[in-house]
Amino acid sequence: MSSKKKRPISVSPTVVSAVVAVLTIIVVLIITSIRPAYSDATPEVILEGDELLTVYFLDVGEGDCAVIVTPENKTVMIDTGTRDNEQNVVDQLREFGVKTLDYLILTHAHTDHTGLASYIIERYSVKTLILPNLDDVSGFSYAVNAAKSFGTEIQRAVSPHTLNVGSVLLNFVFDGNDFVTDNSNSSIEILLQYKERSVLFTADNEKPVEDHLVSEYKNMKADVLKVAHHGSVTSTTQAFLDAVNPRYAVISVGRNEYGHPHESVTERLFVACEKVFRTDRDGAVKLVTDGKNIKFYTYSEDKTSQNAA
Ligand SMILES: [Zn+2]
Repeated sequence: MSSKKKRPISVSPTVVSAVVAVLTIIVVLIITSIRPAYSDATPEVILEGDELLTVYFLDVGEGDCAVIVTPENKTVMIDTGTRDNEQNVVDQLREFGVKTLDYLILTHAHTDHTGLASYIIERYSVKTLILPNLDDVSGFSYAVNAAKSFGTEIQRAVSPHTLNVGSVLLNFVFDGNDFVTDNSNSSIEILLQYKERSVLFTADNEKPVEDHLVSEYKNMKADVLKVAHHGSVTSTTQAFLDAVNPRYAVISVGRNEYGHPHESVTERLFVACEKVFRTDRDGAVKLVTDGKNIKFYTYSEDKTSQNAA
């Protein structure tokens, strides 16, 4: 039997501290590098196949800007946000890999929806610009001028009408023509359909258009509702919400002096929907669907405290 004693290993405290420090730095670097720039808001949902539709609701503060990317990589932008959002929108589109646009749809001539239109037409090689079906489109003159300069085709929305963009259907349910005295209520409204799933883009339409749509169409059902007019109390009536019956809602809103989104609207949405996203709190919101299942991602840190004021 051997009873050889082991010699204690002596390591200087300085070496131990150095090793611990290096390991800590490595762990921090690994954690930082693998942390995604987005959060999966629906981890329970699994998508099937690779024919996926993506819709980005960009964070443009108080305004609207959504980008649709079809499974065939066709791209549609609905509204642009305000003029001062230039770098912000460019950065988000770069992050999302959007380089060109097949369609730019301007829902109505308010600057929180159209302010960046001429810049977008210039920078993103927009093939077709779609405007509301109005006699007077002077409110879009900057966009029209840019379209003429850069060879962008200009079309007017017509409703009811379906535009096929790859395998995605854009149903124009309202072309803005009936309520010309009121800009907000002359917004193009689109019901997107991809296989079994649908998204309703309401722009800033209010109760008069909502009532009109509910009486005009037997089926206004949509899985996802882009909430009208940044959550204003003048829109999203209970009757409209009952007709659309959405599972998810997205409010495109930023700091504002109008009280958007109104508490009564968010309360109605929380009762009606499984999840309600807000770009002022969640940052940009990304929706991905295989035509059956829908996943959501949010693209920023929790901004709740920042926007609570
Ligand atoms: Zn607006």
